[in-house]
Amino acid sequence: MNNGEVNRFKDLLLSKRQELSAGKSLADSIPTAGELRGDPVDMAASETYAATQVRLHQTDGKLLRAIEDALTRIRNEKFGLCEECGEPISNARLEAVPWTRWCRDCKARQDQKI
Ligand SMILES: [Zn+2]
Repeated sequence: MNNGEVNRFKDLLLSKRQELSAGKSLADSIPTAGELRGDPVDMAASETYAATQVRLHQTDGKLLRAIEDALTRIRNEKFGLCEECGEPISNARLEAVPWTRWCRDCKARQDQKI
């Protein structure tokens, strides 16, 4: 993977992280993020958005950690490699879930274990 691609995924991860942080502040009313709550654009967002945030909130802690881990892997130049088999993860998969640690095959195997 070249630097341009890595940077693009990094941008995806950073914006996703920001999105999650904003959603978290709506749900938890963290005082330091208070200015985000008054954003007229957010306030005008549809109920679907609010419902999505509530749903996301249940897993966003895990997701945030996964995103942080992915950003760490970018710093360590290990981004895009499967933690299980060491093979490169397909760009299509990273496009959908840039914070993933596993290639499609290894993830499928894990899902079967559960
Ligand atoms: Zn793998």
